[in-house]
Formats: sequence, structure tokens, C-alpha cells
Amino acid sequence: MSEAVLQVRNLQVHYATPRGAVKAVNNVSFDLHRGEILGLVGESGSGKTTMGMALVGLIRSPGRVAGGEILLNGRNLAALSADAYKKVRLAEIALIPQGAMNSLNPVTRIREQILDGLRDHNISLTNAEADDHVASLLDKVGLRPQVANVYAHELSGGMKQRVAMAIAISMKPKVIIADEPTSALDVVVQKRVIETLQEVQKELDASIILIGHDMGLMAQTVDRLGVMYAGQLAEIAPIRETLTAPQHPYTRMLIESLPSVTEKKPLRGIAGLAPQLLNLPSGCTFHPRCPHCFDRCITQVPALRGTDPGRWAACHLLDNRT
Ligand code: SF4
Repeated sequence: MSEAVLQVRNLQVHYATPRGAVKAVNNVSFDLHRGEILGLVGESGSGKTTMGMALVGLIRSPGRVAGGEILLNGRNLAALSADAYKKVRLAEIALIPQGAMNSLNPVTRIREQILDGLRDHNISLTNAEADDHVASLLDKVGLRPQVANVYAHELSGGMKQRVAMAIAISMKPKVIIADEPTSALDVVVQKRVIETLQEVQKELDASIILIGHDMGLMAQTVDRLGVMYAGQLAEIAPIRETLTAPQHPYTRMLIESLPSVTEKKPLRGIAGLAPQLLNLPSGCTFHPRCPHCFDRCITQVPALRGTDPGRWAACHLLDNRT
């Protein structure tokens, strides 16, 4: 496996509430390797979007990064001031936000929205250079240069998503966080947007964290998959192994709950509800829903540990595998 460009170590993101701290990301550690696409899946509230926002320094009050490190090429971004983070964001690590289609400014032409990011980094271009740069970015994401002159409402959902991608790659970052980049798009457009993301990744030699909940999309797109539950990583492994031999009971149940196209079988959900982050269960947070729960699960938090080469999981059932 290639070297890690991003190393997340014991990351914690808390939101202050009158009833106490909500631990939206709770001690999460993983590596993102050069040139890979790492998927992050989990139910709503599992912490995956908060994780993405934390990586690009966009956690706002009442939230805060309460601990841990975000090492980008060895530099700890979690220790940067807000101003210093602004210089890193877009230039080295960029976000394609959730609902990117709606994140575009309705009253500013696309050209200006793409150039705004560069201006924030004090990059000044002549008009001709700016035109060329915008046209080349639009071309990279499969859009015609004329798109520069229109407003967001004149574009389809898929085109707006591509514009959001063009903005994210405008300074050639080496790490891109794509948060549900295909939600609200029909399947044909979804496929094209993902293909564009893959092309952009190859061209920039970038690494991508793809956040989502669509396991089918993950299966076709990512190299490795991280499964989040209640703010923690339950399992992280190469996608093929995850799909064929999941190790964590939650991952297994997630995969078993997927409908099959080859056999007719009753749809199976995961019994129970995801826990409230303000009031997490003791021990393993999955224990109230886990069919394999035993005594230790109720009292001891399972650590995320290496189980097989290239695989990590947090479950007491796997404690003897290392
Ligand atoms: Fe289930 Fe226990 Fe493993 Fe948690 S630690 S997933 S409760 S078996």
C-alpha cells in the first residue's frame, strides 16, 4: 500500500449542548493513502459528515475539535488557527460539500464563483488568464466553457455538482473530501459524476474520501471502505474484502440489508435505532443492536485493531485474531 498523505489520529469533535457534549466524532483514527479513494459510510448521525467538515477545518461553534490530530503530509492541521486553515483549504485539502448543488451562489455567475477561491488565496490573474483557468477547470469536469457565464439556476443538478467539483479542484489539492456528491441525482447522472470524480482524481494524482451511504456506489468506486457507527469507526478494510467477508457485525448486517438483484429475498433491516450521541450505550455502542453481544461488550469499549493485513475492526469477537 502506498504512503499515507493524511493521517487522522484519535480525532474527536464535540458539540456543546445544554445537556452536555455531543461526541459526533469519537476517537477516530485512519490513514488515507496516496492516490486512493476511501469510502466512509454509516447511518445518519454516524459522524461521517462531521468528520469531513473537521478535516477541512469547517467545524463551527458550538462544535469544536476536542482532541486528536489531522496530519496532512506530516503537518497537524488540527493545531492551525482559523486563518492558517484558510490557506490550506482548497490549496491542499478541499471539500465538495453535501448538497453542493445548493451551495452555489444564486446571484453570481459561475466564473466569479470559481475565481473567488483563488482570490481568497491572494492569487491574481489577468482577465485572459482567469478565462483560461476557468475554461480549463470546466473542461476537466466535463462542462463547456460557456457555463462560466451563467447562473446556477440555469444549470441541471448534475451540472451544478460538476461546478462544485470544479471549485474544489481549482487549486489542485491533493486531498478531496466529497460529501455525498451524488445525492439527489438520478442514477445515470450519478454514474457520470462519479466517473468525472475518478478522472479528476487521476489527473491531479489526488486522494479522495468519498462520504455516503450508498453501498452499491461504494462497491463500484472506492478502494477501501470505512464503516462508521455512533461517531466511531467500526471497520476499515479493502472494499472487496468488506463486501465478501465483513468482520464487524454492524458491517455484516449493513451488507445483509442490501437488496439482491439475483435472488428474491425478504428485505432485512437492522433492528433497533442508532443511539443518541448524548447518551451513548456503555461498552460497545452497537451492543444493544448486536445479535452477538456478550458480557464484555456491555462494559468494555472495543478498540479498533488490526485483524488481518490491511484490515481493522473494533469488535471483541475479533480480539484473538491479531
Ligand atoms: Fe457485537 Fe460485542 Fe462486537 Fe460490539 S463488541 S459488535 S456488541 S460482538
